[in-house]
Amino acid sequence: MRRFYTSRPEKRLELVVERSYAQEETVNSLKEGLSLDLADQMIENAFGIYGLPYGLAFNFFVNEKEYVVPMATEEPSVIAAASGAAKTIKSAGGFKSHIHSRQMIGQVALIDIPHADQAIQIIENQEDVLIQAAHTSYPSIVKRGGGVRSLSVEYLPATETEQDFLVVYLSVDTQEAMGANILNTMLEGISPLLEEMTGGTALMGILSNYATNSLVTTRCSVPFDLLKYKKIEGEELAQKISAASQLAQSDVYRATTHNKGIMNGVDALVLATGNDWRAVEAGMHAYAARDGRYRGLSRWWIEDDCLVGEMTAPLAIGTVGGSIKLHPYAQASFEILNIESGQAEAANELAGLIAALGLAQNFAALRALVSEGIQKGHMALQAKSLAISVGAEADEVQAVVRQLKLAKSMNQATAQTILDQHRK
Ligand code: NDP
Repeated sequence: MRRFYTSRPEKRLELVVERSYAQEETVNSLKEGLSLDLADQMIENAFGIYGLPYGLAFNFFVNEKEYVVPMATEEPSVIAAASGAAKTIKSAGGFKSHIHSRQMIGQVALIDIPHADQAIQIIENQEDVLIQAAHTSYPSIVKRGGGVRSLSVEYLPATETEQDFLVVYLSVDTQEAMGANILNTMLEGISPLLEEMTGGTALMGILSNYATNSLVTTRCSVPFDLLKYKKIEGEELAQKISAASQLAQSDVYRATTHNKGIMNGVDALVLATGNDWRAVEAGMHAYAARDGRYRGLSRWWIEDDCLVGEMTAPLAIGTVGGSIKLHPYAQASFEILNIESGQAEAANELAGLIAALGLAQNFAALRALVSEGIQKGHMALQAKSLAISVGAEADEVQAVVRQLKLAKSMNQATAQTILDQHRK
């Protein structure tokens, strides 16, 4: 059977259909891509389409389901690393992902409140009226089974700022949507009522990307005997990965790069499914600093002769809304993932997978860093893309890569020379 990895991109399009990852018409829609007309409807002043490579990662096994994972990324080695890590983790039973809750938080900030204590009392007494007003502003989400799940109010005194604030928070079940527009509509809907109740002025009403009511935990556990890697015994590798994880808890310079590695996976799937990656980035980094200090989002430790990895993160994503239904690549991604967008629990399933992909990417980076170093794998892949970029056929790639790795400079000109000599 022809391998996906060693095939040329045109052949991979055929393999996607042959292996039933997606239907032929979906693949055809990928060939056409996003049209300029559609882009023009999505943003202002559009005059082009900025493309990103779109590939597949394999071996993902999450909550007993196997996934082929579409990823949009411009960075070499990310997809190979994800697939390699997922393979090791799958051999140990895969990932277990758990959704804590799935609600979006939004806030109305009020200023110039004459009597804060009184205002808090009124808001708490009028909670039902406010929730009803929020629902009246966006009735369809209530019909879909969603709506406001809680309302709270907090007074922020002017200690570090010149201004004091009274902030009203809504936590809303937005069903399958990420919910930014749903929240914003509700918040603006209740703002005049809040002004009336408190005598203050609503400064703004907006969703918060600090999505602490959309937390996801993913976990994996790999026995030492499945961890052996490049002549390093499993136990030694586990100890080193555990130490690397601790470094990301105590050193902010390492923590930032540790988390960047996690985002290599998270962003690529968030983007591939048409979700808002800035929203996810903002939320995850804020969560990494939740105790006042920025730390690694994942932890790895040793337990019963196993390396255990775990990550908890806010993942405010949707399977409908925004550009999801518009973008042909986003639609193809859901088909490839075998997740039906808009179906109940689809967003939870996707969030669990995104978290697992982030943890897999983190495992791959730590494994490489504490063994052969990160550059070796990167350069090997760089050599391969150079070989392919100068036109090496599948049966020539290996030979060109071998020579390229020995060459003084690894660039396109050298790759071309090697390929020409190889063909003589
Ligand atoms: P939409 O405004 O597109 O709202 C969701 C849509 O999905 C609604 O039209 C809803 O229909 C429809 N829908 C269909 N099926 C379902 C279902 N099962 N559950 C829920 N809704 C369903 O998207 P969001 O409110 O999710 O907002 C996301 C967008 O907002 C993103 O593009 C994001 O980039 C952007 N944004 C982000 C901000 C931030 O992160 N701070 C701020 C502002 C915007 P119906 O109306 O009939 O219920």
